[in-house]
Amino acid sequence: MTHVNHPFLDGRPKRMLVGGQWVEALSGRTFNSVNPATGQVIAQLSEGGEQDVDRAVDAARAAFEGPWSRLKPFDRQALMLAIADTVERRFDELCLLETLDMGAPIARTQTYKRWIVQALRFYAGQAVALAGETPGNSAARDVFSYTLRGPIGVVGGIIPWNGPLISQLWSICPTLATGCTLVLKPAEDASLGVLRFAEIMQEAGLPDGVVNVVTGLGSVAGARLASHPGVDKIAFTGSTATGRKIIEMSAGNMKRVAVELGGKSPDIVFADADLEKAVPGAGMGCFNNTGQICYAGTRLLVQRRIADEFVERLAAFGRTLKVGNGLDPEVQLGPLVSSRQLNTVSSYFDLARAEGARVVSGGERLGGDLAQGYFVPPTVLSGMTNTMRVAREEIFGPVASVIPFDTEEDAIRLANDTQYGLGGAVWTRDVGAAHRVARAVRAGMVWVNCYGVTEPTVTSEGFRMSGYGAKGGRRHVEEYLYNKTVWMDLG
Ligand code: ADP
Repeated sequence: MTHVNHPFLDGRPKRMLVGGQWVEALSGRTFNSVNPATGQVIAQLSEGGEQDVDRAVDAARAAFEGPWSRLKPFDRQALMLAIADTVERRFDELCLLETLDMGAPIARTQTYKRWIVQALRFYAGQAVALAGETPGNSAARDVFSYTLRGPIGVVGGIIPWNGPLISQLWSICPTLATGCTLVLKPAEDASLGVLRFAEIMQEAGLPDGVVNVVTGLGSVAGARLASHPGVDKIAFTGSTATGRKIIEMSAGNMKRVAVELGGKSPDIVFADADLEKAVPGAGMGCFNNTGQICYAGTRLLVQRRIADEFVERLAAFGRTLKVGNGLDPEVQLGPLVSSRQLNTVSSYFDLARAEGARVVSGGERLGGDLAQGYFVPPTVLSGMTNTMRVAREEIFGPVASVIPFDTEEDAIRLANDTQYGLGGAVWTRDVGAAHRVARAVRAGMVWVNCYGVTEPTVTSEGFRMSGYGAKGGRRHVEEYLYNKTVWMDLG
């Protein structure tokens, strides 16, 4: 194990948070956490097994039924605001850990601060804004009807590695706002920041058992959580293949499920677009976080008149991006998260060539100084059709497939010719076309003349194989609440 200069990486194996205690896995087993920029082991994580998950679910249940259930909304809000303040103070440490753990450049992870603090404060506001309804009724007898809303219970959060500092909040925030409790299972490749975040929440006053963190393998710890009879809801973000398994496993006790899955999002560039904005905008819409974003705009649908020019400019833009170890503040793109992900992306480079695509830029692992890590450059493919596998399958790497179109109808048809429906964008100066396309694209988020803006206050939800379940905003909070109707005879 290499020494890394970070207070959390002190060489001791990391424990898991169960019922307010930091514990080893019952089996005593650990696994390695690797820095993808160097290929070096930076920490050992506890390999939580089924019984560790069971203990965590028991702790979450006990907390749900204990003093936490009697805490008033105002007290939950105060807790969340205290967490926001503590996170704000300790943020430098968290963003550095995220960079070391999953590779995203420090220039990127530093920008998460505003989003994260805002998320905690927005959901803190929601804690005191929960309300039922008093619908009128026309029943034959004189009855009063009203609805009660309350926390649905123990939530299992299963999150991926591409941005855990943010994605953990999609389950932590609504859990705390509503009075649920949580067992969180971070991804094998990026658990460190989630563990440190849990320590920070404790420091801010998080009661025991309200949030528990179990590290371990998806196929063991994740699967146990998804199938556990004591879990009332699963909030999952990850691949479509795993999402389908989660839904199947959840059926045993009819858990509520929210799944945010993969994407192959269309980014439509009309000939009248301002290319000074569209080229870098669409470029970063695809290459950002080294392409490891579920809503990345990886299918660049470009009007034929400007397609050749656009391809050249996009490739040129990609070449300007500095790829390297994210600790360097100048670096814009870090490594892929793991050697496994490098193999996946490399296999798509081979497939693109085999399918007859032209590799305009990139398309090969980076060597030289970067050979120790899992680095690939921004890659632009042309000569593509929307039927090629490279244009249909989620790669989760910085790979843009440029596909020409002729008319607005063509663009919409191609945009919707996908099994996914997470994101999409349109670049044009024609206001009518922008609105028509935004309405026609079957996706949960459509951006006009920008890409990838998200806010914890704004709800989004996938279509089709990109999953379902709201994220952000009031609707998200409501998915953590039950609805109960009370009928009262007034006669
Ligand atoms: P990837 O293949 O890119 O790692 P996954 O969707 O498999 O994406 O991983 C997302 C999260 O799901 C991770 O926390 C992982 O550990 C977890 N996971 C993987 N397989 C399973 C499974 N069979 N059951 C439950 N969780 C799983």
